[in-house]
Amino acid sequence: MKVFKFGGASVKDAEGVKNVADIIKTYKGDQLLVVVSAMGNTTNALEELLQLSLGHTSYADQINELYNYHLQIVKALFEDIHHEVHFFLAQRFQSLTRALQKARRQPFNQVYDEVVAHGELISSGILQAYLASMEVACRWIDARNYISTNNLHREAQINWPLTGSKVNRELIPVLEEEVIITQGFIGKSSDGYTTTLGREGSDFSAAIFASCLNAESVTIWKDVPGVLNADPRIIQDTVLYPELNYYDAAEMTYFGASVIHPKTIKPLANQQIPLLVRSFKQPEEPGTRIFEEGASQTVPAIVFKKNQTLITFHIRDYSFITERNLSSIFFMLDMMHIKINVMQNSATSVSICVDGNTTKNDALISNLSSEYEIRYNTGLTLITIKNYTDNTIEEMSSGKELLLEQRTRHTYQIVVR
Ligand code: ASP
Ligand code: MG
Repeated sequence: MKVFKFGGASVKDAEGVKNVADIIKTYKGDQLLVVVSAMGNTTNALEELLQLSLGHTSYADQINELYNYHLQIVKALFEDIHHEVHFFLAQRFQSLTRALQKARRQPFNQVYDEVVAHGELISSGILQAYLASMEVACRWIDARNYISTNNLHREAQINWPLTGSKVNRELIPVLEEEVIITQGFIGKSSDGYTTTLGREGSDFSAAIFASCLNAESVTIWKDVPGVLNADPRIIQDTVLYPELNYYDAAEMTYFGASVIHPKTIKPLANQQIPLLVRSFKQPEEPGTRIFEEGASQTVPAIVFKKNQTLITFHIRDYSFITERNLSSIFFMLDMMHIKINVMQNSATSVSICVDGNTTKNDALISNLSSEYEIRYNTGLTLITIKNYTDNTIEEMSSGKELLLEQRTRHTYQIVVR
């Protein structure tokens, strides 16, 4: 069986949903589980609605806009104005309204997950209804009944044994008869609350289902032709990698390549399930195949990670940085779930480049400010070149203000303003 994942961009309008349905139809005869994200920018809109609700600001216009966005898609897909999908949509928006109304009485991360999950629940419902109207035998399932997680809301971790046994027991028989349509990004904690796996987490959901079902492959259908050596929105003349091995692909996601969610590779690599990254705009093209024996690529990969903060911890008393200093800084980073993207030390200071999450970073700085003199810069970009050449370094660094520069055998990294 195969697992497909369609991101928000693939179902951002009615034409998109039709195209996705066409792709699914060409795999008639295959056992298929399809994971779909929220339509277009719905997750961002849901985040905004929650902020408005928590800030006691009226959100009537914004929720109407989001409802109308989905309604227009539904109207364009279904001729029958009495089709039950209208009832489904209204119900989901009622549930969303209820969640927003009680938002202030619940812990933020918990209510966040409940609110944003509506995007995936709605998109998957619409896609399933449309496929059914096209006479594709398909079934909508609620991913929360299968993806079991802990209660670390917004970054929930998977309970693999429980997830594996539920998926196996209940979904294998369904796949023999029908295409399964389900949501990415969401799960359920053991206390019964909706959880999410982190922004852009639908790729990871696809990998979880694939790993539990021991799928023959996972295909992520994107608006780019596959894994490119750079983001085509930033760099002209990108090159497509026809194949990659798991290790190289994982490393690119670590550096910040947003083409695949970083957690996706590991469960697939563990089971040697190939990951295909293909274009939903050119579904006949093979895209990129990521697998164990994928050839290492020599074309330099250039990855931009924006909104970075560079924090420098300076020793206060003219002594040198010791392993004990490093260890106490790392201990704090681990406790606060802050991930280092690149680091460097000198005789008297340690610098770390981290994602620009103000809440976490402010807390880190205040926790360590009695021990160190701390300086930081925000709004920076981390540029990584894997398999660098002199030319690519020159191209990427010229004219920029470099705040940190590092070079290892294969990797060149700079933090720039
Ligand atoms: N809809 C979620 C997000 O935008 C999950 C995903 O698209 O993968 O973060
Ligand atoms: Mg999305």
